[in-house]
Amino acid sequence: MKKILNYIDGEFTAPIQNNWIENFNPSKGEVYGHIPNSTKEDVEKAYQAAQKAFPSWSTTTLNQRHTILSKIALLIEENLENLAQAEALDNGKPLSLAKTIDIPRASSNFKFFANAITQFSSEAHESIGKDAINITLRESIGVVACISPWNLPLYLFTWKIAPAIAAGNCVVAKPSEITPMTAFLLGEICNKAGLPNGVLNIVHGLGSITGQAIIEHPNIKAISFTGGTSTGAHIARIAAPLFKKLSLELGGKNPNIIFSDCDYDEMLETTVRSSFANQGQICLCGSRIFVEATIFEKFKKDFVKKVSALKVGDPFCSKTDIGALVSKTHLEKVKSYIDSTGEETGKLLFGGKKVNVENNENGYFLQPTIIEVYDNKCRLNQEEIFGPLVTIMPFNTEEEVVQMANDVKYGLSATLWTNNLNRTMKLTKQLHSGIVWVNTWLLRDLRTPFGGKKASGVGREGGNEALRFFTEPKNICIKY
Ligand code: NAD
Repeated sequence: MKKILNYIDGEFTAPIQNNWIENFNPSKGEVYGHIPNSTKEDVEKAYQAAQKAFPSWSTTTLNQRHTILSKIALLIEENLENLAQAEALDNGKPLSLAKTIDIPRASSNFKFFANAITQFSSEAHESIGKDAINITLRESIGVVACISPWNLPLYLFTWKIAPAIAAGNCVVAKPSEITPMTAFLLGEICNKAGLPNGVLNIVHGLGSITGQAIIEHPNIKAISFTGGTSTGAHIARIAAPLFKKLSLELGGKNPNIIFSDCDYDEMLETTVRSSFANQGQICLCGSRIFVEATIFEKFKKDFVKKVSALKVGDPFCSKTDIGALVSKTHLEKVKSYIDSTGEETGKLLFGGKKVNVENNENGYFLQPTIIEVYDNKCRLNQEEIFGPLVTIMPFNTEEEVVQMANDVKYGLSATLWTNNLNRTMKLTKQLHSGIVWVNTWLLRDLRTPFGGKKASGVGREGGNEALRFFTEPKNICIKY
């Protein structure tokens, strides 16, 4: 059995009340470790360590921060194999995906913000005719919180921590209790990289106990949260009267819009990925596919053929395309959407069944599933399912598809497949989402703003947006 510990003030410690929760291996369906169920006292201890480290960390030179963050990036790279194995075991995702996406991206998060902080500048405004100059400083905030979900564990955890500490803050962080392993391993890496004690503190435990203690802490001044929309709403209700700064990256129900004038083969390949990568458990997956009526029947046939060739299997097998879902509860949730789809809602084109994987008989495996639906108003098209399930629907006009694409409560991302420039310009403006990909999917440049509209979130992270979130502007006006 593995035992995960909290990382507070540079040390690994058991939770004060000695309460533990079970950690599951999703591909075996069995407990393989225990993690702290930290309480208010542990969060207070983490806060105290962060508070103590803040005066010194916030005044380290940018060069020193750059050096330490770069070292963390390098150590993640050097430990890629070990971290990827840990991620695949803890989350159920294919090892190949952890090796090529999750862990390299965690390293680039540190690399990117190690550099970005050296280019992040204050502003000056000369008040001409008034003999005054205004300087706008960007000051570190103090102790901030970073709370992340289970789908891209180390990738999203570091996406928050790297800019937070680069900007001179000290952090109390909590990874998802469902996938805590790589966050635990990050502590060791930070010590090796020479990150001063207390700059990063990682407390493990349930959202309702540990997370709740973090968001209620009166002196934690900002919260960067990625997770579900209802959790985000709950956090906003707690944080607002405490005047905390808030960044919320929440759920999605993203449209993937396919016009007949697109590069068909490229679209088909990418659509398989944007539907089922990471078992469909990426907030940016295109779970609602809209296809122009003239190519609908062809697309249906070709898509089902490609998807049926995907191999669902052991995350550690190199041939596996689709691993296990993250938990039994999540598997049951996704399955319940499939099972409750009546004939009036749609037609199952492929999948829908649990998969029995050899030597992993109790694992949470599900076939990639495609359902043709008849109305965008159905539950399958309106609610975030966050698993290997996509719906497809035909459309006839631009107006019709934009209306359906926008007719959900979410607004995170959208994908558009067309080679018509006028249509591209028109539709990308009309789509209600924070990100629109045209003829590609998940092509990320870390300098760009990342986040969603409507119920998909508040605020933007990425590049200077993240550094702005993790700093407080202060205006100084000097008369001469
Ligand atoms: P979740 O909201 O259940 O949990 C996210 C994190 O919040 C976990 O660490 C959890 O322990 C913590 N938490 C739960 N209750 C809390 C509370 N009361 N106070 C403080 N913290 C609390 O989400 P999840 O199931 O882990 O992740 C899946 C969701 O995340 C999906 O909705 C998905 O769309 C979303 N997501 C969004 C993005 C994005 O960038 N917009 C990226 C990835 C995932």
